[in-house]
Amino acid sequence: MRRHVTQAYILTKYLRGEADSLCVVFTKDFGKLVLRAGGEHKITSKLRGGLEPLSLSTLEFVEVRTMRITDAVSSHRFPSIKRNLSRQRTARAIVELTDAMMREGEPDEKVWLLLEECFFRLSASISNSPLLYYYFLWKILLILGYALKVSSCVFCGLPIGGPAALDAENGGFRCSACCKNPDTLVPAEVFSAVRTFLNGTPGLLSQTSFHHKGLGEISEAYLSYVKEVVQ
Ligand SMILES: [Zn+2]
Repeated sequence: MRRHVTQAYILTKYLRGEADSLCVVFTKDFGKLVLRAGGEHKITSKLRGGLEPLSLSTLEFVEVRTMRITDAVSSHRFPSIKRNLSRQRTARAIVELTDAMMREGEPDEKVWLLLEECFFRLSASISNSPLLYYYFLWKILLILGYALKVSSCVFCGLPIGGPAALDAENGGFRCSACCKNPDTLVPAEVFSAVRTFLNGTPGLLSQTSFHHKGLGEISEAYLSYVKEVVQ
């Protein structure tokens, strides 16, 4: 029987039977894991409180056929995220995307640090929290190897100064002159936001008035493309 101790973000939790749960967590040392927690709902369970979704905990688990949690101590419950609906929605979207993109048992220090950065930004004083979700989305895709070329148009090779359109098949963006369907163009400020996210600069996150409608569309479009490629 092997015993492990690691830090983990609790992504989601499902009930199994009367008292058991299955916890999907992202750990610092083992990546994503699905762990069984027995008797968590009993009043006397020592796991109670340490397995709350959207929290950071120290977990101890053992491997005997399945992986079973033997101890869970919460280190950050992030009350300021849970009290605010918009922040809570952003945190849920972040953990859902982590769950969807990460395979079990593959540790990734960069993803761990990105989760840490986003949870702590979200619990601090960020007012434009939906923007943080798109920051997370572009950064996790970058870490997982789905970077896009942002320095110039993938068709004509000239720098893009104005609006741009996603050209995922060619690994980047087209300028407005090379874009065949003007409906797919996003405003210059949205392209510039994606560029700053992919370049790793979070400065934009402090802009409370950033209009992100086009950013949502282009981000979801690229995410769908990546998910299709992965399957
Ligand atoms: Zn062009």
